[in-house]
Amino acid sequence: MEIDAAALKSKGFFQQAQKDKFSLRLCFSGGTIDTDCLRKAVEIADKYGNEQIHFTTRQQIEIPHIAAENVESVQKLLSESGIKTFIGGPRVRTVVACMGAAVCKFGQIDTFALAKEIHDRYFGRELPAKLKIALTGCKNNCAKVEASDIGVRGVKDGYQLYFGGCFGHETRIGTPILPVLAEKEKVLDAIDRTINFFADNAVKGERLGRLLDRVGIDQFKKTLE
Ligand code: SF4
Repeated sequence: MEIDAAALKSKGFFQQAQKDKFSLRLCFSGGTIDTDCLRKAVEIADKYGNEQIHFTTRQQIEIPHIAAENVESVQKLLSESGIKTFIGGPRVRTVVACMGAAVCKFGQIDTFALAKEIHDRYFGRELPAKLKIALTGCKNNCAKVEASDIGVRGVKDGYQLYFGGCFGHETRIGTPILPVLAEKEKVLDAIDRTINFFADNAVKGERLGRLLDRVGIDQFKKTLE
């Protein structure tokens, strides 16, 4: 059987070390999946995987060991259940979030609701490089927002934003550039301006932090203001 690994990757199936096996990445925002979807993921893992599910460091579910010849059957199950698959590459990635004020007694902001709003607006948007967003509900910083390109942290008076973080083969700590924002609409506006600035100014493969180092924080600040 001829395998087009690149085409399968664009549909969420990532070729494993065993070339005839694929690991399926599912996509959901804010680290939260409906139980119906989770049951479907278990069904896929039991039927077509090795009865195991892996949780990624960015709160996504991965179902490994799917044989190439079963990809079509798995896709059918996915489309019946409405589960979306992960899209990698140079685009806005899934939004990571801690439990936030909807659940956690320390939460200062509703991270679930904000994650969904950001995800629905931007997930999958094509950009010069990947762009990761993380939200955390309070100073405990369970979602480690300084390690993402855009981070939002709940504080007593609103939202503190961080820009330019990344953690991988390059590491850069995101920094707060704006004062604390009191309203959610201002947060969404700042994220919108940041993504547009990134789309307009970054070169291929350049993460937001490297762009900020190259053009200078002042130019970026003008965009935010
Ligand atoms: S960061 Fe704060 S609000 Fe979020 S889960 Fe951790 S303790 Fe709770």
